[in-house]
Amino acid sequence: MSRRRFLQSMTASGVALALRPATGAGRPTGAQPPAPAAAAPAAWRSWSGIAQCQPAAWAVPRSEDELAGLLRQSPAPLRAVGAGHSFTALVPTEGTLLSLDALTGLKDHTAQPVPTATLQAGTRLATASRLLDQVGLALHNAPDIDAQTLAGALATATHGTGAGLPAMHAEVQSLRLITPTGQVLACSAQENTEVFHAARVSLGALGVVTELTLRVRPRYVLQRRVWLTPVDSLLRELDTLARKHRQFECYLLPHTGYGAVIVHDEHPGPPQPVQQAAADEDVLRDLRRLRDWLGYAPSLRRWVAQRLIDPAQTEQRIDWSYRLLSTQRPTRFNETEGHVPRANGAACLRAVLDYLEQRNDVYFPVEFRYVAQDDAWLSPFYGRDSCSIAVHAAHDEPWDYLVKDVGAIFRRYGARPHWGKLHDRSAQELRALYPRWNDFDRVRRHLDPQGRMLNAYLRQWFERTSP
Ligand SMILES: Cc1cc2nc3c(=O)[nH]c(=O)nc-3n(C[C@H](O)[C@H](O)[C@H](O)COP(=O)(O)OP(=O)(O)OC[C@H]3O[C@@H](n4cnc5c(N)ncnc54)[C@H](O)[C@@H]3O)c2cc1C
Repeated sequence: MSRRRFLQSMTASGVALALRPATGAGRPTGAQPPAPAAAAPAAWRSWSGIAQCQPAAWAVPRSEDELAGLLRQSPAPLRAVGAGHSFTALVPTEGTLLSLDALTGLKDHTAQPVPTATLQAGTRLATASRLLDQVGLALHNAPDIDAQTLAGALATATHGTGAGLPAMHAEVQSLRLITPTGQVLACSAQENTEVFHAARVSLGALGVVTELTLRVRPRYVLQRRVWLTPVDSLLRELDTLARKHRQFECYLLPHTGYGAVIVHDEHPGPPQPVQQAAADEDVLRDLRRLRDWLGYAPSLRRWVAQRLIDPAQTEQRIDWSYRLLSTQRPTRFNETEGHVPRANGAACLRAVLDYLEQRNDVYFPVEFRYVAQDDAWLSPFYGRDSCSIAVHAAHDEPWDYLVKDVGAIFRRYGARPHWGKLHDRSAQELRALYPRWNDFDRVRRHLDPQGRMLNAYLRQWFERTSP
């Protein structure tokens, strides 16, 4: 590995793209394409391969009526599947998988009194962004990839970063839900209010969402800047950077003493699109090589890393928001993420890094973001501004420590788990962490008294109420 190549890979676009990648529009790269309804269904596996199942049926309804019939008649457990990008076993079923791949697209949009857009729930985020862009609109915020479906992203409280920006579900103004009994419910703060509060983050436990109206905004240009900085000073400046920039996030590079800072701010001028760097994955590959070659000698590994990293390297890009906020992640991994109260963010991040640096096998950067509070009942950000800390392990390497050891640190700092990322919280713990847990469960039991939406994973937390 030449110093030049390593340095190139440490440049902003390298860091940003390598660590926050995504797929373009279209079919997810991880999930198997749905089989035609009549054929023997294919086995299903998630993006990282950690979750798998062999469903008895795999249906792709083309209308709400068809979906309602499927919900009424198909073998349980009934599970909606999006792009298969969750790591937790929310989707697997031996019963029926329901994909909304045929229910996609922008149905309507308005400019007044606030801009809103009505999208079908199976629309991928990448497609949603492009459709909105074509009518001069954009999402307020976005996660670091855009392969997910809208409904899948909302069901697990998918979020981006920004001290004043909430997760995606907080922008939902109304939604349509088909219940397990085939009833069609229009839900908003004014109509079916309790179902609305429960269904914005639903874990797919209430039925299938077919349509969402989201608050959006006129499309906007962002300026992204990325730079490398020593971890110790970065940890002191986290909140300052988060206050100063519309969107701040950082990646700590274990066993190097450095972190990569990524900020996005609104830019008044036109976009200046450039070709994305080809070496998107270089930084990850180089960190892995350092681990493979020098993992046995942590001091030497750090010494070499510090000589290879050039903190004077920075990068800047100016483009439409959706082109900068979500990127590509070709390298597969498994992941955990804890959402801690904002006051605990820096201390928890330090504790996670200290733990990871005791392990010589770790090389994935640790991701740190800010998310503003909201009021959806199962939102991890319910009633509290949060910091999110995400830890990754290569898909073909051990990941048990993410749940056991990193999970124990998250517990100490009061984290609520990301619903789509690995954790082992019990029903009792979740009830204590989520003030509206019992309300959610009451609505769930009302909509699904027979527990037809509950797969083995959800049955850890929820019970059927009638046989
Ligand atoms: C590479 C990668 C990067 C990621 N980056 C981020 C990030 O930046 N921020 C973040 O917060 N998360 C992130 N995630 C996690 C991801 O956003 C969530 O796990 C999300 O739920 C995945 O959406 P999906 O469409 O793949 O849904 P799936 O994983 O297929 O399903 C997730 C849940 O949604 C439910 N569901 C799907 N469709 C419907 C429907 N129509 N109605 C009701 N329920 C439905 C399913 O039943 C399931 O419970 C990332 C994951 C990966 C693999």
